[in-house]
Amino acid sequence: MATPSQKIPATLIPGDGIGPEVTEATLEILAAAGAPFEWERRTAGMGGIEACGDPLPPETIASIRRTRLALKGPLTTPIGGGYRSSNVRLREEFQLYANLRPARTLVPGGRFEDIDLVLVRENLEGLYVGHEHYIPVGDDPRAVAIGSGVNTRAGATRICEFAFDYAARHGRKKVTLVHKANVLKALTGLFLEAGREVAKKYEGRVACDDRIIDACAMQLVMNPWQFDVIVTTNLFGDVLSDLNAGLVGGLGMAPAGNIGTDAAIFEAVHGSAPDIAGKGLANPLALVLSAAMMLDHVGHQDKATRIRTAVDRALRDDNVRTGDLGGKASTKDFTRAVVKRL
Ligand code: NAD
Repeated sequence: MATPSQKIPATLIPGDGIGPEVTEATLEILAAAGAPFEWERRTAGMGGIEACGDPLPPETIASIRRTRLALKGPLTTPIGGGYRSSNVRLREEFQLYANLRPARTLVPGGRFEDIDLVLVRENLEGLYVGHEHYIPVGDDPRAVAIGSGVNTRAGATRICEFAFDYAARHGRKKVTLVHKANVLKALTGLFLEAGREVAKKYEGRVACDDRIIDACAMQLVMNPWQFDVIVTTNLFGDVLSDLNAGLVGGLGMAPAGNIGTDAAIFEAVHGSAPDIAGKGLANPLALVLSAAMMLDHVGHQDKATRIRTAVDRALRDDNVRTGDLGGKASTKDFTRAVVKRL
């Protein structure tokens, strides 16, 4: 943890499409809040290809290895063919095992009011390991498809410890373990077993319960307020984190952190939005809130809270909103409104 006056080196990847616009907005807001980051600017995605023919240049990896902390704008990934997602490569390269996705009501008047949920998704194991193959039958080479998931006790314990520790440090009351141990008894039973073991260490501080994934999905829609922190395996977490974003108005405003033992990368969940790139219309909120999570991560919760409060004020009290939220504000208008509140 840094002392208030210490500079914190961090890698900045502005990204593709609207990335540079939302990054500039975020930097202005961070500066107004007195954030102590000392940036090393690097490229990735299409920007990396254009700069040096590599969507994840070695200098970018080296910078993150040095700073162990990065803020990343969206990267364009070609669909079907082309290069592999730089986002996935970064997660693997730095073993970012925890995907942290808060979902909080920002704009009142939506389908659900006062949502404040945090989803912790295991990022490296489960069905995402991609151990898949086909079995040919007769003249059909793809008659049967087989895929296996891999969960380890060490991996399940590590992600559950992350979730309980996060809950304890952020004043959260409860962690819900989400699984499918009634059917996938080994694969997700092991996760549940490890989670219950971790929960014992937090007894009296953080409560614990568990849900089967399908029931959890329904209950999140019927009564989301019963949940606080949810921790789950990779595939279930992928689905539930988007479900939670839907509860508070969609993916457009969702921030995320990918956190490992040796590095942490914070990013907006949305993509590079090529349809509005360069027009000054993009909503910078998701990257701004990701930067606030980054401040939390390095122990500057006070500055993170100031940014979140300023964002709330700009949206709710000043009614300054970009087009995706039904407003007329440009990226710059919204940025100015948040800076003014700070
Ligand atoms: P997208 O999120 O870029 O865009 C979907 C829609 O949402 C578009 O209409 C866009 O204008 C709008 N939108 C997205 N962010 C917005 C913002 N901040 N403000 C206002 N409107 C916003 O998704 P897509 O079109 O499927 O993907 C475009 C590219 O982004 C693809 O190359 C994809 O691979 C990449 N992508 C990257 C990431 C990442 O780097 N984390 C995530 C998702 C998609």
